[in-house]
Amino acid sequence: VSSGDKNRKTELSDIFISVKTTQRNHKSRLRILLDTWILLARDQTHIFTDADDPEISHDKGVHVVNTNCLPTHSRQALCCKMAIEYDSFLESKKRWFCHVDDDTYVNIPQLVKLVKKYDHTQDWYLGKPSLARPIEMIDRKHKGQKIAFWFATGGAGFCISRSLALKMMPHASGGRFMTVGETIRLPDDCTIGYIISHLLKKELTIVNEFHSHLESLKIVKSKDMENQITYSYNKANVVHVSGFTDENDPSRIRSLHCFLFPTFRECKDIDSN
Ligand code: UDP
Ligand code: MN
Repeated sequence: VSSGDKNRKTELSDIFISVKTTQRNHKSRLRILLDTWILLARDQTHIFTDADDPEISHDKGVHVVNTNCLPTHSRQALCCKMAIEYDSFLESKKRWFCHVDDDTYVNIPQLVKLVKKYDHTQDWYLGKPSLARPIEMIDRKHKGQKIAFWFATGGAGFCISRSLALKMMPHASGGRFMTVGETIRLPDDCTIGYIISHLLKKELTIVNEFHSHLESLKIVKSKDMENQITYSYNKANVVHVSGFTDENDPSRIRSLHCFLFPTFRECKDIDSN
């Protein structure tokens, strides 16, 4: 790699976007992502699931990986997927690893704008915690010492620079991530935080524009909507945006997409709904 290439500004094609999903969410969650924001980042988006599904892999240009991890919400299954997401990112040679869940809308231009502000050859862990203070645990490996560290909530999305991802290799590559998860017995996003914040002593940079459904999404105002980067939703907590009816768009993902990108073909019958 020439230094000229290294100095080139970061663009969308430098980002590896990974989406974690599971077979039973393909229709109910993934479809809507494929029809909205993923259209803006087809070649950058990699879907990590646990079953083969022609309906998804036939979506032209989308990368689908069957991890063969268990299709359960268990810590092991989720760490198994994260381990493969991470290894796939390393293989991709991209500058940034950005992870989201399958209930997340990603505002692609804003994501690009975010990582552009940081140097991928330096160590960056960008995300947003959902807890007001660092998570505490007992380090059984070190005389039962109490330790505390920050982690970015997976459900809000997070990004890791290549430089930092490379430093994580002794703890995370080739499936070692799963071993760490087993050792500390915490979910995959906490395990990422443990490796970066505790083992590598690199600070989490808080990005307020990431939003998970663990925070109230009602408070995001229309005028600020286009500046936000991610929104995840659940049944009880969705972003308030006009557009399609609640019946036709309970997650508000289609409405949000059309609010941000009104010229999309999918948005033309918004008023007749
Ligand atoms: N997930 C998974 N396997 C499962 C259940 C969930 O891979 O058996 C993934 C799901 O696709 C999502 C993430 O784990 O990307 C979080 O799941 P969910 O949003 O249902 O739960 P939350 O943790 O947000 O309450
Ligand atoms: Mn969720």
